[in-house]
Amino acid sequence: MSIQERYTGAVMNTFGPPALALVRGHGAHVWDTDGKEYVDLLGGIAVNALGHAHPALVEAVTAQLSTLGHVSNFFATEPQVALAERLQALLGWDESRVFFSNSGAEANEAAIKLTRRTGRTRIVAAEGSFHGRTMGALALTSKAAYREPFEPLPGDVTFVPFDDVAALADTVDDTVAAVVLEPIQGEAGVVVPSPDYLLAAQRIAHEHGALLWLDEVQTGIARTGAWFAHQLVDGVEPDVVTLAKGLGGGIPIGATVARGRAATLLQPGNHGTTFGGNPVACAAALAVLDTVVAEGLLAAATERGDRLAELLASQAGVVEVTGAGLMRGAELDGPYGVHAVATARDAGFILNATGPSRLRFVPPLVLTSDDLDALGRALPQILESARTAAQETTR
Ligand SMILES: *Cc1c(COP(=O)(O)O)cnc(C)c1O
Repeated sequence: MSIQERYTGAVMNTFGPPALALVRGHGAHVWDTDGKEYVDLLGGIAVNALGHAHPALVEAVTAQLSTLGHVSNFFATEPQVALAERLQALLGWDESRVFFSNSGAEANEAAIKLTRRTGRTRIVAAEGSFHGRTMGALALTSKAAYREPFEPLPGDVTFVPFDDVAALADTVDDTVAAVVLEPIQGEAGVVVPSPDYLLAAQRIAHEHGALLWLDEVQTGIARTGAWFAHQLVDGVEPDVVTLAKGLGGGIPIGATVARGRAATLLQPGNHGTTFGGNPVACAAALAVLDTVVAEGLLAAATERGDRLAELLASQAGVVEVTGAGLMRGAELDGPYGVHAVATARDAGFILNATGPSRLRFVPPLVLTSDDLDALGRALPQILESARTAAQETTR
């Protein structure tokens, strides 16, 4: 029996049947059970910042696991403290504190609890948002299909149209604990707001004594060519930032970073986790941050991201390219995104569609020029075959 067939009989069917079973990876490439090679333009959904099997990550995890693998939060370890200090420094936040967890949803759960300690309960979130699938994070996620089977969801959440300053100004008042936004909406298809939107959100939140919380789970850790996407806009200083995905380069870790008064809202007994801050996960994250510097991956994300954007924009059938760095969306001239994912896979490229006509590219930051050249050669045929396949299925 194939791995996919065994999967169906053993793994809960929350994701639908897997398209491939993968066995190994190297750089931005992965191989399936038949030995077929793919250029991975999804990177485990913006997770594998260093690609697959990067020696720095393998070494850091191996060394830490051989020394001390897990201790619980009754004890401190050097990797945990060093990682918290590094995040403080990268954010430029002296008066800040970090809470570690294991995923994006968990990082957001900690942030939700933190906002409750302001004495206010209301949160303003954006339409198109995605903040995770646990009950609290889901309460901030706008997509009806994700929410409705699980209502009632906790909390008092108001959704406003994304990138609409007037809607924020009309909605945020002195009952609001926090405004939560993705600096670039990822699951919505890489939607970039106008340059002044985050600054306006910050001003409006602060005028009403509310916190500005930016969910950088997908946009953080060099993805957009800056350490954090909010740093692409001068003057944006959120009170809370949540991180996960790229932070561990594939080892599960989440982080909630808060500054100023937000840094001390969670007090002893208010929150906890068994695995969060685990020294292996923190050593992995330190290796990711070190390697981003050592290999110049901030500049690489900008440079390769610009090339990727140009390449996409030059395709017949692509009507809009969005995003920054190596986080890009491509709007197609018809609803053949799902077909493009399939034809790309046949051609040896792993992509993702966030909507019927929307492709998302969040490849490893170590993607090479050769990988981009290969994509450039293959893409016209991938899109053409996808369009044809879509026409045949609707006929
Ligand atoms: C993926 C994602 C999450 C959820 O992260 P998980 O690790 O899947 O729980 C939250 N926020 C954003 C912006 C994301 O992209």
